[in-house]
Amino acid sequence: MMCLTFLVLLCLPVCSAYPLSGAAKEEDSNMDLAQQYLGKYYNLKTDTKQFVRRKDSNLIVKNIQGMQKLLGLEVTGKLDSDTLEVMRQPRCGVPDVGHFNTFPGMPKWRKTHLTYRIMKYTTDLPRNAVDSAIEKALKVWEEVTPLTFSRLYEGEADILISFVVKEHGDFYSFDGPGYSLAHAYPPGPGFYGDIHFDDDENWTEDTSGTNLFLVAAHELGHSLGLFHSANPEALMHPVYNSFTDLNPFRLSQDDVNGIQSLYGLPRASPEEPLVPTKSVPSVPGTPAKCDTALSFDAISTLRGEYLFFKDGYFWRKSNWNLEPEFHLVSTFWPSLPSYLDAAYEDNSRDIVFVFKGNELWAIRGNEVQAGYPRGIHTLGFPPAVKKIDAAVSDKEKKKTYFFVEEKYWRFDENSQSMEQGFPRLTADDFPGVKPKVDAVFQAFGFFYFFSGSSQFEFDPNAKMVTHILKSNSWLHC
Ligand SMILES: [Zn+2]
Ligand SMILES: [Zn+2]
Repeated sequence: MMCLTFLVLLCLPVCSAYPLSGAAKEEDSNMDLAQQYLGKYYNLKTDTKQFVRRKDSNLIVKNIQGMQKLLGLEVTGKLDSDTLEVMRQPRCGVPDVGHFNTFPGMPKWRKTHLTYRIMKYTTDLPRNAVDSAIEKALKVWEEVTPLTFSRLYEGEADILISFVVKEHGDFYSFDGPGYSLAHAYPPGPGFYGDIHFDDDENWTEDTSGTNLFLVAAHELGHSLGLFHSANPEALMHPVYNSFTDLNPFRLSQDDVNGIQSLYGLPRASPEEPLVPTKSVPSVPGTPAKCDTALSFDAISTLRGEYLFFKDGYFWRKSNWNLEPEFHLVSTFWPSLPSYLDAAYEDNSRDIVFVFKGNELWAIRGNEVQAGYPRGIHTLGFPPAVKKIDAAVSDKEKKKTYFFVEEKYWRFDENSQSMEQGFPRLTADDFPGVKPKVDAVFQAFGFFYFFSGSSQFEFDPNAKMVTHILKSNSWLHC
């Protein structure tokens, strides 16, 4: 029976051509569940066709094995009933891929006194109940480290806490009641360290609903730099355990070892030596991410991550990981050229388009799509346009902007055609941005324009530049 479930998973294109029997329907929904779960928490690419069609079912088996190992299940590599049951349990929304115990790159706070601020409350509980659950969760970590916390009621705090639902501006949408309960970002500036609770859960002081203290303590572990633990006794285990003894609550030794590996013992000297930062191998000709003169060829989002292209290389940056990965373009997409001109993601089609000279390529995950490269003139550019400098697609408005010299064109993704009235001058519609753009991408509702070593954060609603930054500010320098 166990094997049957797994076989159905691999033979779906054939099976799904016929009406499904009751049992087959159940297996079908199990497969959907597994696909979503592994896609969300184990980075398995979730394109249905790809998932089913993959000849190397080894990858799926390996993902299932990895999940079973981390969640303390028997490692069978199959979608057995225990595995499916765990997939249905409520859990933390932070993925399980990555290193054990700390996030890759070991991000930690470089100070021992941290501030927090509650930005948005749930209506499930009175405010003072939320306040005290958060205070109690902070104490859990204060007791075993030199860290101290104080609350701010306004201004910028290290850890911003909010209750939100569904899509809430960070690419990691919540999913209604159950499943993903909350997520938090590892230590760092800006949104790093912040905690989001899914307000579609029923938050409670006891365990009749979802216990706020327990989830808050777990998410704070992430805010402080701990990653998921494979130890089912640990607070940092990714699956929510409503049977945890809350009176009194005790951290497992695994959690204590983890957090003390980052911050040391309580009341230890705060002046510990800094963790050495990983250096980029200095092969001549390799771009260095912290070079203050660094500029980019092209930048795109990809399934919630960011790709920064330079020469024959790219940095891959996810919000979960402060330290970007550095790769050769050819190891991911052997048929793509180096020294790209522009790139953008059409996330409704799950495709990244990349441009060089008068040609463009379409990539989905690590596959270059058939039928490419095509000429850029197929998009509607006049023959005088020989190359694109930068491109970005506004995912809400479904408009794609192409920057060429000091002008820009706008393409309508719905009608798949270039709009009338273009090109226009970039300086007229994007005031404050340098007229010659190297690269641009969209994140958190802003457009980020890159020109040489400068970066301009542009608010498209207010039509103004809100910040000027170094180009490499996304690469943790
Ligand atoms: Zn977690
Ligand atoms: Zn979030």
